[in-house]
Amino acid sequence: MDRLGDMGPLWMGRSRFGSAMEQKRNNQGRVAHSIGRFAPSPTGILHVGNLRTALASWLSAKSKGGLWVLRIEDVDRHRCRAELAERQIDDLAALGMVSDRPVIWQSGRGKYYQEALATLQAQGCLYACSCTRKDLAMMASAPHGEDGLRPYLGSCRGRALTQATADAVRFHLPEGEIAWVDEILGPQQDDPHQFTGDPLLHRRDGCFAYHLAVVVDDGAQGITEIVRGNDLRCVTATQIHLQKALGLNHPAYAHVALVAAPNGARLGKRHGALGLQEMQAKGISIPEIVGWLGYSLGCLDRPEPCTAQELLSGFSWTRVPDREPASARLQALARWISPQTK
Ligand SMILES: [Zn+2]
Repeated sequence: MDRLGDMGPLWMGRSRFGSAMEQKRNNQGRVAHSIGRFAPSPTGILHVGNLRTALASWLSAKSKGGLWVLRIEDVDRHRCRAELAERQIDDLAALGMVSDRPVIWQSGRGKYYQEALATLQAQGCLYACSCTRKDLAMMASAPHGEDGLRPYLGSCRGRALTQATADAVRFHLPEGEIAWVDEILGPQQDDPHQFTGDPLLHRRDGCFAYHLAVVVDDGAQGITEIVRGNDLRCVTATQIHLQKALGLNHPAYAHVALVAAPNGARLGKRHGALGLQEMQAKGISIPEIVGWLGYSLGCLDRPEPCTAQELLSGFSWTRVPDREPASARLQALARWISPQTK
């Protein structure tokens, strides 16, 4: 596997993405206007919900004649495993989704995250956070945002960063709400102080944090559209604030529904969510899986076996049924993949 963590963007003025035109040329040398991405964390196998989100991102970019790229979000080196990433890449390829550019691994991109931190520090919007887990747990008495997310209340604001500090680094969120239009959810408006509060950008254990890596990499990869699970809707405003502070373009967003188990539980290892290999071991073929995923995304009238390529002509965000919570098609998909809990 070609490990390309070190893919060129520099945080220097207007040329920070390398050549913008080079970024936007696809393999045929034509200008691609859309660049979509899928960015799994290699902390587990991709279950049917993850595969559905991946397919939605692929269909959205490809149906516009754009590029689709894959990024491995292994910035948390304590939790991620390279062999899981390799399996995720293989599973996506088996379903017909192959990155149009070399796969980016966040674990190799520390110098770009460091440069972004320096850019933010020069603007005076970073501070050292010495809060312990216990401190943060005490803050949990504050009102929770959606999904139980606890905003950081900024109690360390104003603490200077020093070279020697072992403290975590946070971004002082500017005041103000952020508005964006979500392809599925429609017009959105959020005050990120209610959801994340000042986000962590660099952790005390030396790892760069999720929000920083995502925003830097979406900029570096020239991403124009972000399709991801709606559990991440609530961090969008925070990430848009970071894009602004770093002078990056704002991509379009589509937050797709998560696939729940038939009993309503969130899919995950604990609920026996199957990976591609386990599905195949149960006698389910790849074309059947693709057909069911395509049906659940509104591309087909019936879940017939097919290829990802064959879904392209039927894909439109207006047909994706995720506006209604627990749509009939999503429920049918969940029942199909979890017959043992029917
Ligand atoms: Zn703190």
